[in-house]
Amino acid sequence: MSVTAVVGANWGDEGKGKMTDYLAQKSDIVVRFQGGNNAGHTIINKFGKFALHLLPSGIFYPHVTNILGPGIALNIQAFFDELNSLLNRDIPKPKIYISNRAQILMPYHLLFDQLEEQRLADKKFGSTKSGIAPFYADKYHKIGISVSHLEHPEYLRERLESIIQPKNVILKHLYNHPPLSPQEIYQQLMSFKPQLDPLIIDTQKLFYQALKQNKSILIEGQLGALRDPDHGIYPYSTSSSPLAGYASVGAGIPPYQINQVIGVVKAYSTCVGAGPLVTELFGEQADQLRNKGGDSGEYGATTGRPRRVGWFDAVATRYGCRVQGATEVALTLVDVLGYLEEIKICTGYDIQGTVTDDFPATIHLDKAAPVYQSFQGWKEDISSIRDYKKLPTSCRDYVGFIQDYLGIPIKWISVGPHRENLIKI
Ligand code: GDP
Repeated sequence: MSVTAVVGANWGDEGKGKMTDYLAQKSDIVVRFQGGNNAGHTIINKFGKFALHLLPSGIFYPHVTNILGPGIALNIQAFFDELNSLLNRDIPKPKIYISNRAQILMPYHLLFDQLEEQRLADKKFGSTKSGIAPFYADKYHKIGISVSHLEHPEYLRERLESIIQPKNVILKHLYNHPPLSPQEIYQQLMSFKPQLDPLIIDTQKLFYQALKQNKSILIEGQLGALRDPDHGIYPYSTSSSPLAGYASVGAGIPPYQINQVIGVVKAYSTCVGAGPLVTELFGEQADQLRNKGGDSGEYGATTGRPRRVGWFDAVATRYGCRVQGATEVALTLVDVLGYLEEIKICTGYDIQGTVTDDFPATIHLDKAAPVYQSFQGWKEDISSIRDYKKLPTSCRDYVGFIQDYLGIPIKWISVGPHRENLIKI
């Protein structure tokens, strides 16, 4: 039996989707445990190029059972749109189920997210406006709507009325927006029921049985450790925990069963939206890295926004690996750096004259100046290399330094966006 978590050690966009798609070949179950359709996993495989938002990355294998756990934010319309867009591209019909305890991301969550970003104007957080923060706020405020509520129309109708009443007061007085109709929202929700019903199961029971039968389970994180609301760069964080530790809760798997945690680490830094990024590059240097990065430039898979880019931040990444509890590392996008004469790694932060290699609380990050160590570039296309020993010496030096700094074995090196561009060590 194996339970493996594939999770981000940076700010997200580390190439987790590619790793999950690769590892899903040998898995029975792939599960998403947090977040919604607010981030994207880019996957390039024999069927083409895809940006998955809510669907687990095991979706391309007919033998895999894909699960959306109770911890996710279910935008039902977005879920079916995404599923149908795959089916329209001749993907074999996937096996996918949703936890009966998952909660629904409601149309008003999207609306409040948009209105609040508008209200904040230049103080905005850079939300993807997918409704995620209002969704989780309602969930923990205990005014969420569960998938299971659709089984009880009268209860749902009354619950919607009492939830929407105070929302309408805020809409009117804070946002100057027309009120919502609970009845319309109720009808819209119930219209999904026939399509949704066959997909809803008790995922807790499924995992319990799967573990007893020694099935292999892959847990797929969204975003990265530095976006965690407790351990990340709060308030520039997301609203659910992307940590492997939370997978136990958000999926429903005993913590001691998760025996492998693959921390996906990007060979340089990228980040979308607001918040501190100590190694950020600007101007021509940044444009060059942004355009060389990813599979076709560093632009958000969900929003299309240009990603902020920077040198590899070893301080932040080691911290990210530690809070993930990474047992091994997959170092991705190493090929991207092949155009550089000189590559830098940030090994410390100079905070008002004191150099530290500990990642501080967010409030101190704005004052942190990066302390760099320089490495010679390899100036070579490494995307067809499959054997670690065949990598150019300066590339191995770069990878080796990162491994020593992190103190965690690098078991995978990704050298291109395609499934096969992978070196196993
Ligand atoms: P995720 O959310 O962690 O799955 O990452 P994203 O899909 O948002 O961003 C990763 C980007 O890098 C995507 O464009 C991938 O196609 C691409 N990618 C993944 N691994 C590699 C790699 O090793 N090399 C290159 N050049 N691109 C990669």
